[in-house]
Amino acid sequence: MELKKVRLKKHLGQHLLVSKGVLTKIADELELSEGDRVVEIGGGTGNLTREILSRNIGKLYVLEVDPAMVEMLEGIEDGRLEVLREDATSFNLCSLGEKLKVAGNLPYNVGSLIVENIAKSRCVKLAVIMLQKEVALKLLGKEKPSWLGIFLRTFYEAEYVMSVPRKFFVPPPRVDSAVLKLRRKDKVSVDDPDLYKKMLTRLFSARRKKLKKKISEKLLLEAGVSPDVRVEDLSLEDFVRLYSLYKAQRPL
Ligand code: SAH
Repeated sequence: MELKKVRLKKHLGQHLLVSKGVLTKIADELELSEGDRVVEIGGGTGNLTREILSRNIGKLYVLEVDPAMVEMLEGIEDGRLEVLREDATSFNLCSLGEKLKVAGNLPYNVGSLIVENIAKSRCVKLAVIMLQKEVALKLLGKEKPSWLGIFLRTFYEAEYVMSVPRKFFVPPPRVDSAVLKLRRKDKVSVDDPDLYKKMLTRLFSARRKKLKKKISEKLLLEAGVSPDVRVEDLSLEDFVRLYSLYKAQRPL
């Protein structure tokens, strides 16, 4: 099997998913149909790549940074496959088309950066991704809220698909994992993701501080938010309302 031929690199988060059941589930959750354009992030030795190619799809792009893995993936003979040696934290996904479906057993060290890149990409309509379980729960707002969780859920409906124990990977990571499914919302009123990120990271800095220490009291009152609450007291709707006022008050 391929595993013997390749040295796995820890700094690239190379933990291969070897459970056929989980690979099948990820592909099922992608709701694949003829003509779909799919992007896989971090193809590795191609376990998920092959699973996706076993389905009826139009095109599969695989992003991978490790040249040894790229070479291995290029060995898969399939006219629908295109392997790109690109960094998924910064690659412009929308250069690959519209209404994309994204899948991946993400490299955990840069998992959040990749989630941010997906969230910013209007062209992604559905994503099924494996992440560190703790990170997944945070993104869903099940644990201490984070700016990235709010950012993601502003653009996507996020759903917990399943937990995946560490024993399903080679080599097993030190933490358990989870699969999330993200579905792009039809109507998103946030039109400038970079500005939105700026506002969110500002509000989430020094969490224990009251909001009025971070953003104008007038703006908070206009948005119907008490200036004396803390960032974890806000709902998703509060953030979106704050954003439209925040944007409007900025000099162009
Ligand atoms: N999908 C495979 C491998 C997952 S491991 C499997 O499940 O078996 C994560 C993969 O992401 C590794 O192959 C690693 O080389 C790749 N990777 C790491 N950083 C990356 C980045 N910034 N962009 C794209 N791929 C990356």
